Amino acid sequence: MSYAPNSAVTYIVIHYSATPVEVDFTAADIDVMHRERGFREIGYHWFIRKDGSIEVGRDLSKPGRFEIGAHSKGENDQSIGICFEGGVTRADPNTGFDSRTPAQKRAMIDLIRKMQARFPGAVVRGHRDMPGAATQCPGFDATAWWDEVQRKAHKPNLLAAIINAILSLFGKGRT
Ligand SMILES: [Zn+2]
Repeated sequence: MSYAPNSAVTYIVIHYSATPVEVDFTAADIDVMHRERGFREIGYHWFIRKDGSIEVGRDLSKPGRFEIGAHSKGENDQSIGICFEGGVTRADPNTGFDSRTPAQKRAMIDLIRKMQARFPGAVVRGHRDMPGAATQCPGFDATAWWDEVQRKAHKPNLLAAIINAILSLFGKGRT
């Protein structure tokens, strides 16, 4: 196992497992598939099941450092890999799409926030956005999706700031 310091992480890379949504796959199943492809073990750090449960891949339990994964060629020593179960259908296994369930999306948002707390400054990218990647993975524009999530998250704060500003104006008027 090789590790790199937390400070090396600049990307959180989103993947799909490219497994048909009609079938259930666990991190253990992906582990078997990746070993068959010659990896030492599952290449991702996290695996998000269709029901939103999160399973562990590569080791992130050591403080201050992370186990280098095998999910984004060229950036493995500076990225955390998050994979969601699914991404294709049995009928059309060659066309990737955003098959995330609402539970998967919620779990992914929470997990990304946790990862950004641990790896400050790490940006969210889809596998296909990475330099040199020739893949459809993860089947959607992860950069735009995350920007949208952030925008929505900040809206209530902005609204609260406006309300506070108005209230403080009234407060001033009363004194
Ligand atoms: Zn991928």
